[in-house]
Amino acid sequence: MDKEELLKNQVALVTGASSGIGTGIAKAMGAAGATVIVNYASSEESANTVVEEVSDAGGKARAIRADVSDEAEVTEMFRKAVEQFGTIDVLVNNSGVQKDSEFVNMTLKQWQTVIGINLTGAFLCAREAAREFIRRGVRPERSKAAGKIIFVSSVHEVIPWAGHVNYAASKGGVMLLMKSIAQELAPHRIRVNSIGPGAIKTRINRAAWETPEAEAELLRLIPYNRAGEPDDIGKVAAWLASDESDYITGTTIFADGGMLLYPGFATGG
Ligand code: NAP
Repeated sequence: MDKEELLKNQVALVTGASSGIGTGIAKAMGAAGATVIVNYASSEESANTVVEEVSDAGGKARAIRADVSDEAEVTEMFRKAVEQFGTIDVLVNNSGVQKDSEFVNMTLKQWQTVIGINLTGAFLCAREAAREFIRRGVRPERSKAAGKIIFVSSVHEVIPWAGHVNYAASKGGVMLLMKSIAQELAPHRIRVNSIGPGAIKTRINRAAWETPEAEAELLRLIPYNRAGEPDDIGKVAAWLASDESDYITGTTIFADGGMLLYPGFATGG
């Protein structure tokens, strides 16, 4: 099948698509033929630019604002999306933040903000998407599945991360949220998977790559010896949303240049 046909006639909602990895995923979904809903929380201008970029490339897109940690806003976003496009076929739960702190000084607000967006937000969006997928059921002219949910997790769903325990806990939570939903929804022909990025150059981790010294330090953790780009994740997401991966559910696909290969053991141990 041609790449631009992979998601033909399908509607994909990408949370946090106004920046970084979410933008890369939105563009890849558009390039694969999907109509794309570009969710954002505060960056309206950037979201509109992404809509223009998808449209310029021949796709259809619309921006919808919603704070994914707010139940009423999530419900309203799905209502608007279904009202305008009839249904949703793919949800990408990508929105995420870091609020870093040494553990003993971490505030409850830092903890709750990260868990609220990265984990609770993913739960709220996945629940709305699952309700819509079950309501509509399988339509073979769209996809073999009734719907696909993709979480953007992290290598930190398995790698502990000192100074970032709220973030690592949120991604560890996403791992079992994903697997448990996958188990529960498989009989409805809903596929649920995660992508676990390594270090991708976005604003969230700018300090880790913006100077040559910082990047050299970062590359010590990446056997493949390059940091990732949003497009590296976009390509995986488009494939994982398509029928090309129809037999895959309940899995995390790590796209990390080998970060999970215990790089310290390449020369030590
Ligand atoms: P980013 O450039 O900072 O983008 C974060 C996105 O999340 C933005 O579009 C932002 O929208 C949105 N967002 C923040 N709070 C939100 C809320 N309450 N409701 C809805 N959307 C909200 O970061 P990124 O690196 O692309 O990260 C995207 C995902 O990848 C995150 O889940 C992150 O944990 C994961 N990840 C990133 C890396 C990496 O190396 N970059 C590695 C592993 C995993 P606004 O701008 O409108 O606020």
